[in-house]
Amino acid sequence: MAPAELIQKLENTIETIPDFPQPGILFKDICPIFLQPKLYEEVIADLAAFSRGKVDVVCGIESRGYLFGIAIAIALDVPFVLIRKAGKLPPPFIGEKYDLEYGSAEIEMKTNHLKAGQRVLIHDDLLATGGTTEAAAKLVSKQGATPAQFSFLINLKDLNGEERLKKFGAEVYSILNY
Ligand code: AMP
Repeated sequence: MAPAELIQKLENTIETIPDFPQPGILFKDICPIFLQPKLYEEVIADLAAFSRGKVDVVCGIESRGYLFGIAIAIALDVPFVLIRKAGKLPPPFIGEKYDLEYGSAEIEMKTNHLKAGQRVLIHDDLLATGGTTEAAAKLVSKQGATPAQFSFLINLKDLNGEERLKKFGAEVYSILNY
């Protein structure tokens, strides 16, 4: 559980936009966090504390997963590996198709950046249905590494993303749970 003070600050900072990018979606805009460098530091410290000593690599999911993932990896002094949207990585890479809360997509990952047996933190800004994170975990598993932890700033609990991640047996942490 994140410190109550951090939760409060984030709740006051993250903006909620109804019906974006489609009717019925309550979009959570995390960008105002970057207007407050000290708050950003607190977020990184909190997310890094969850993973310290428990992972060998951080994988961030494009693109908002990079905004915090790289800083978490630096704080932990471990490598950072990008999980990208399809069509952007030069070979060698592998891909995984998945369903989104809105639409469908495919993500890809280099096959020469992870080592078999590594414990991996998969990080994204927000957990909704869990489709994106599940696909990321499959990419990690296919390379013989272990999805050991998942972290997010926000978990939209009603969409049951956490349920979908249970099969990986990994720890899950999110600062905010709506
Ligand atoms: P999902 O695969 O359904 O868990 O969706 C997670 C991905 O979609 C994350 O990369 C989020 O950035 C984005 N996303 C999904 N729902 C929302 C939302 N309500 N507000 C902001 N981003 C969202």
